[in-house]
Amino acid sequence: MPRIEKGVKLDFKDVLLRPRRSTLKSRSEVELTRKYHFRNSGQEYTGIPIIAANMDTVGTFEMALALNKHTCFTTIHKHYSLQEWMDFAANNPSVLTNVAVSSGIGQQDLDKLSQILQNIAEIKYICLDVANGYSEHFVEFVKQVRNLFPNHTIMAGNVVTGEMVEELILAGADIIKVGIGPGSVCTTRKKTGVGYPQLSAVLECMDAAHGLGGHIISDGGCTCPGDICKAFGAGADFVMLGGMLSGHDQCGGEIVVKPNGKKVKQFYGMSSETAMNKHHGGVAEYRASEGKTVEVPYRGDVEFTILDVLGGLRSACTYTGASKLKELPIRTTFVRVTQQTNEIFKMMEIDN
Ligand code: 5GP
Repeated sequence: MPRIEKGVKLDFKDVLLRPRRSTLKSRSEVELTRKYHFRNSGQEYTGIPIIAANMDTVGTFEMALALNKHTCFTTIHKHYSLQEWMDFAANNPSVLTNVAVSSGIGQQDLDKLSQILQNIAEIKYICLDVANGYSEHFVEFVKQVRNLFPNHTIMAGNVVTGEMVEELILAGADIIKVGIGPGSVCTTRKKTGVGYPQLSAVLECMDAAHGLGGHIISDGGCTCPGDICKAFGAGADFVMLGGMLSGHDQCGGEIVVKPNGKKVKQFYGMSSETAMNKHHGGVAEYRASEGKTVEVPYRGDVEFTILDVLGGLRSACTYTGASKLKELPIRTTFVRVTQQTNEIFKMMEIDN
């Protein structure tokens, strides 16, 4: 018999962070750098744990260069050739500690992943990404990759519930990607009715992961810097961004000038028709596309967006009295809300 879970599950929009008395004098005192030790790879991480998504518009080499300046991380999309990887690695050796090579679960993906890692020893991260991380086949694949690369840090997902987080960590993953359906260009919830409100997913999955010494990424659903602050407040170790980093110089695709003079860039889900036409020669008959294609305003250099995000994060820490990003979850009390922002001048904004 179908069951209904009674407790309410929450999204970022349902809560705000409650401010707390603080001894901090200035935002500049806030330390955003985190250090992690990974359970299965045994490797150490130091950096500001914001990640560009492995989408071919956002997870580019150019994005990695821009984010690395701030010690942020990029999961590079899986459509670069070995030669492109080797050229990038030769020219930018210092960025290689802050990137992951992405792979799906196909044999071709695994072959390319292996070639890249064999040729570029400095890369220490692997991102195993499937739309549905619940399949036994995926768990077996994670085990296989763990055996092949015992010392690489493995990110794996996506899932949204504690028991699957545990299973993937026990299979050899270090960092679990959490999020089904919250993405800006994702249509999974519309096409399938499947999903989980992202804030609750983070709260539940971080508890499961941390219990085993694992880590999680909150992946998808951040619409503004405040959402990133809430994800960290909820206990996410990393936050992954797609849409918030779209539309910049560092993104894949051309700038298009519309008849009204507005500049836009195309942004699309990795299982959208656009992506499938580009990489797989069309949408296979047995599946529906679970992503959409949008045109986003052209936003110039991503540097300004990153500074905006890091500024918001520092400020959230100041408001809650956290001198370090590490302390944010301890200082976090979420208040349930029915309204987040005052929308009265929404149509009249000249910047935001
Ligand atoms: P955003 O930051 O744009 O809200 O979410 C980014 C995340 O959306 C990605 O990291 C990935 O997990 C997810 N995503 C990207 N493309 C697709 C897609 O085509 N379909 C679905 N269901 N999710 C996608």
